[in-house]
Amino acid sequence: MKLKEISDGYFAGFGRGELPYLRCGGCGHAFYYPRNLCPKCSSGELALAASSGKGKVFSCTRIKTRDPARSPIYAIVELPEGFRMYTNVLADSAEIGDDVEVVFREVEGRIFPFFRPAGDAAP
Ligand SMILES: [Zn+2]
Repeated sequence: MKLKEISDGYFAGFGRGELPYLRCGGCGHAFYYPRNLCPKCSSGELALAASSGKGKVFSCTRIKTRDPARSPIYAIVELPEGFRMYTNVLADSAEIGDDVEVVFREVEGRIFPFFRPAGDAAP
């Protein structure tokens, strides 16, 4: 698969409300960041798959700004399919181990995945 196909597949998935990731056909490794070769075994035999989007905060930090409402929480979220991804958690606070779920937001005309506390009623 070419990188452009992978990238297009990711944005198509975001548009459908799905969180895509890549699974290596060579060694089974799952990863999020779009690449056309497996970072573990260098195989190009990759397949797009869709995650449940329900994960746990693996690590997080709040970047403090003057406006507390605009102080983002940067996090690494671990998904049950076996991969981790860098993301933002949309919440007032987050702790390691918190259950979070994917939510999609438009940023400068494109849809991107973010996370929020699991079961949060906000859209
Ligand atoms: Zn591999």
